[in-house]
Amino acid sequence: LTSLDIVQAPAKPVSAAPKAQSAGSLSHQGKVIIVTGAAGGIGRASALKLAAGGAKVTIVDFNEEAGQETLRLIKEQGGEGIFVQADVSKSEDVQRYMNQTLETYGKIDCLFNNAGIIQKFSLLQDIDEEHFDRIMNVNLKGVFIGMKYALKVMEKQGYGNIINTASTAGVRAEHSIAAYSASKHGVVGLTKGAALEYVKKGIRVNAICPGGVATGLTASVPQQLQESGYVPEEFPNMRMGRFAEPEELAEVVAFLASDASSYMTGSIILVDGGLSL
Ligand code: NAD
Repeated sequence: LTSLDIVQAPAKPVSAAPKAQSAGSLSHQGKVIIVTGAAGGIGRASALKLAAGGAKVTIVDFNEEAGQETLRLIKEQGGEGIFVQADVSKSEDVQRYMNQTLETYGKIDCLFNNAGIIQKFSLLQDIDEEHFDRIMNVNLKGVFIGMKYALKVMEKQGYGNIINTASTAGVRAEHSIAAYSASKHGVVGLTKGAALEYVKKGIRVNAICPGGVATGLTASVPQQLQESGYVPEEFPNMRMGRFAEPEELAEVVAFLASDASSYMTGSIILVDGGLSL
């Protein structure tokens, strides 16, 4: 086939293809968006940004006090939301935050599956099996359960949007965090699999891959690295000379959660200041 053949080939109708939504619109007005891990870091910054854009936000976190603080900050800026205390690795908790969102707002436009934990830095042979299980349960199974129940709702609605938080460690190796890296590679796999399965059902699924972000999660990393005896070459030498601010990730989340990204699905988006170059 030459490119001309391709241009001249009759367009095949695709049944049940999602309609182009008002492309170009960055608005979140009227959207109902669930943000997990919204008590801090990337989740809180995203919840605040989305609420400021007009979304009704369900804040999900197991940290009650900090989760309520996110809700207070949203209300302070004139936004709307609810807080649901939940452990994303527990199916009954996930179904509860999904149901509470539906009972309160009647639909789910977007799920930002963001809650996650970092691994204790060590060589693979020294990772405790219990610790491995916990990393997988929160970072991978938590994302899976969230997607599973959101997709049931979104399929019935005929539309939906899922954003998962992976990591640069989800697309390449990073030293001393093999379990975390495996969990994040798994998040990338779930994202691609669901994007493929639901592309004709009006549901988009994408993932972001942060590099280093200045949040609670990374606060302990320098000390952990020292203790682990391995300091990766890139760590003190972030390409931009600094970590990202959580708000810089929230900008990308806001774009993915909006109709401006209507042609994007299955995209694994690095937001890493060039870390993985
Ligand atoms: P953070 O620790 O500031 O926020 C994570 C939030 O998730 C916390 O509020 C925590 O209470 C919540 N949480 C953890 N386990 C939970 C559970 N089982 N149920 C409910 N809530 C739970 O960290 P962050 O940096 O904002 O991390 C957000 C996401 O970004 C994580 O998935 C993390 O792996 C990913 N990430 C972070 C970085 C970084 O450099 N900070 C880099 C790559 C990826």
